[in-house]
Amino acid sequence: MTPGSHTITLAGAGLAGALLATLLARAGWRVEVFERRADPRAVGYEGGRSINLALAERGLHALRQAGLHEAVLAQAVMMRGRMVHFLDGRTDLQRYGRDDSEVIWSVHRGRLNLLLLDAAEAAGAKLHFNRRLDRADFDARTLRLVDDRDGTAHDAPFDAVVGADGAGSALRAAITAIEPLGDRFEPLGHGYKELEIPPAADGGFRIEPNALHIWPRGRYMCIALPNTERTFTVTLFLPSHAEGGAPGFDALPDSAAAHAMFARDFADALPLIPDFDADWAQHPVGVLGTTYLDRWRLDGRALLIGDAAHAMVPFHGQGMNCAFEDCVALARHIAQAPDFASAFVAFEAERLPNARAIQQMALENYLEMRDRVDDADYLLQRELERLLATRHPDRFVPRYSMVTFRRIPYATAFERGRIQRELLVEATRGRARLDEVDLAAADRAVLERLEPLPVEA
Ligand SMILES: Cc1cc2nc3c(=O)[nH]c(=O)nc-3n(C[C@H](O)[C@H](O)[C@H](O)COP(=O)(O)OP(=O)(O)OC[C@H]3O[C@@H](n4cnc5c(N)ncnc54)[C@H](O)[C@@H]3O)c2cc1C
Repeated sequence: MTPGSHTITLAGAGLAGALLATLLARAGWRVEVFERRADPRAVGYEGGRSINLALAERGLHALRQAGLHEAVLAQAVMMRGRMVHFLDGRTDLQRYGRDDSEVIWSVHRGRLNLLLLDAAEAAGAKLHFNRRLDRADFDARTLRLVDDRDGTAHDAPFDAVVGADGAGSALRAAITAIEPLGDRFEPLGHGYKELEIPPAADGGFRIEPNALHIWPRGRYMCIALPNTERTFTVTLFLPSHAEGGAPGFDALPDSAAAHAMFARDFADALPLIPDFDADWAQHPVGVLGTTYLDRWRLDGRALLIGDAAHAMVPFHGQGMNCAFEDCVALARHIAQAPDFASAFVAFEAERLPNARAIQQMALENYLEMRDRVDDADYLLQRELERLLATRHPDRFVPRYSMVTFRRIPYATAFERGRIQRELLVEATRGRARLDEVDLAAADRAVLERLEPLPVEA
């Protein structure tokens, strides 16, 4: 297809929509974007989801394609590893990667969205705010858009429409009405609530800034990510329902009950949150879950990307990273295919198995973060993992690193991660210390079971 021959319409100017608009407009396509909310650059960013996010290599790479990585990193805080806060107040920094070339970045969702909107507009995309996609007539190729301020409806024609309208996608609902996509939502049964650690009296950070802090407590946990304002956003992840002595949101009717739970389980975090009661009362409990679909497209007319196609739980910090990777892949397929139908088929074939893999790894990471990071057998496996990674850097790359610092397909990371896990469990079974492990046998297993990874361009 020749850019300029068609208009590509996007629903949603969130993280994925704004980046995709930038990439497509830069490639010469006419791009129209319809966003439900008002222009955040005029009225301020309207929150809703997490305040900050962890940006990793996949997302960074996508931003590089749009020439935006430096601008984004200029307003991000580097996180070298997890700072684990034990119940007794001890802390332990567990590095994520080999050195400072393997780190993740805490970025502010609102500022990132604003930067992407500016980039999309500068590239020539036409952004229309206060235009909520309400319905789609796929035969007539028109969208019905509603301005929620006064309820007025507006119709817009389209050639091909891409739904980047998030987990509650209206485009997904519109496609499903005429062609089932096999969609199902699996709630996690755990929710989240955000609290804030303000700067210290001297204006600095109250705790180590270059880390993602975790307070693992078995069935639940808190995390904290730094912000450039020298604050931290704390997120409590907790079961929706209390069970077997473990707390749940339903057993915390007010801030006094929550305060008591924090005093018991997060004693070193509580004094860092002076506005605890107000934060607790004012911030809603967010819902978490996974959206699975068997298909993401309606021939060449409509396609879903990002959370609209594959919302996931946030425990690998990959939802946005994966959505950004979608944007680059889709722009590539559109550039290469003869028509939208072939581009959408190729995109779905490439991305759907990878989305499934990261959705699964995100679920598994919740268990790891809240329950395993302080286990003795887990720590020994991690020690051996690091050793094997240095002995076989081209073959044995920890799964977290494959997902976070590399761009190999998520499905490959998932499969290799399974083999590596088996190998670590076998090598450490019945052992308490690294010097008890049969290293020669572990080396042989690596060479036999793991092919060298391809070098990334
Ligand atoms: C608590 C939490 C923490 C997270 N942490 C991380 C992290 O650390 N790292 C990471 O990579 N990911 C993280 N994520 C995931 C990340 O937020 C999402 O994957 C990402 O926002 C998906 O981008 P998107 O553009 O697909 O959807 P969204 O960002 O949800 O954007 C959707 C856009 O569509 C608009 N819209 C909605 N409906 C309509 C409609 N009918 N018509 C027009 N417009 C509409 C919305 O207003 C919005 O602007 C986290 C998520 C949560 C909930």
